[in-house]
Amino acid sequence: PITEITDLSSLLLRMLTQCQPLYSSGKVADYIPALAQVAPQQAAVAVATLDGKIFSAGAAQQNFSLQSISKIFGLVMAMNRLGDGLWQRVNMEPSGQPFNSIVQLEWEKGIPRNPVINAGAILVADVLVSHYSASKTAFLTFLRRLTGEEAIYADQQVYLSELEHGNRNAALAYLMKSFGNIEAGVPQVLEHYFHQCATAINCEQLARSLLFLANRGVQPHTNEQICSRRDAHRVNAILSTSGMYDQSGEFAFKVGLPAKSGVGGAIVAIVPQFGVITAWSPPLNRFGNSVVAMQLIQQLADELGLSLF
Ligand code: GLU
Repeated sequence: PITEITDLSSLLLRMLTQCQPLYSSGKVADYIPALAQVAPQQAAVAVATLDGKIFSAGAAQQNFSLQSISKIFGLVMAMNRLGDGLWQRVNMEPSGQPFNSIVQLEWEKGIPRNPVINAGAILVADVLVSHYSASKTAFLTFLRRLTGEEAIYADQQVYLSELEHGNRNAALAYLMKSFGNIEAGVPQVLEHYFHQCATAINCEQLARSLLFLANRGVQPHTNEQICSRRDAHRVNAILSTSGMYDQSGEFAFKVGLPAKSGVGGAIVAIVPQFGVITAWSPPLNRFGNSVVAMQLIQQLADELGLSLF
């Protein structure tokens, strides 16, 4: 059915208009003060396909905060650098707990449940800090390479706001350090982590950047092998089971695609052999997932029959 859709843009626009009453059923993230300043009534959706097309509707070129979605890029970089050794330091199981939970970390002796909850992403940040001479620059360079856009940057205001209000993330990092699972200094690791979360990006750029995950590790517009086919499979597997915080089961049930959300209000969903869908709207539900973005992706997956299951 996908190939029969010649102009997805009108479908996206119709869906976006229908979703607008949902703005008021969510709440913009406010535990990071800089994010609380974002206007709630905004939304965008974009679809990038492996054959180089981009369809979008709404504010698809408006920047938002990448937040937790940055965990995908960090993970791919760490897998490329460390190989299988990474999986001795972080697990690959769904957590069933909120994204910033600390309890399991104590039970499991400083080994995070998976690389896309905060503890796991901080562990990945440690790998990057320890294996790159300038990890923050390396992260931005990677994103610029994937999007083909030099304009990608880290928003200093968001970065400083997270740094100032990052006590829980600091607690996660120090607990892992106490178990010997963080190599670098905690302040340096947190600095990298907050920096990558503060990346400013838009829906179209984000959709294009992750096409390699829908294409066995090869970025279609440059033909570059970004990660191995096996690692692309592994990242998608982790996103399928853990990418949507503790709503991952419901998302698999209703949508059936590897996906990742962030508290900036974006969600990205990978459609293997087809492309990438991104949606963004700031108000979040109680799990930290954007209400409108969830609805947009669910409806699109439904209308186009995209579920992998
Ligand atoms: N920077 C955020 C934090 O660490 C990311 C959370 C998220 O998007 O899930 O709290």
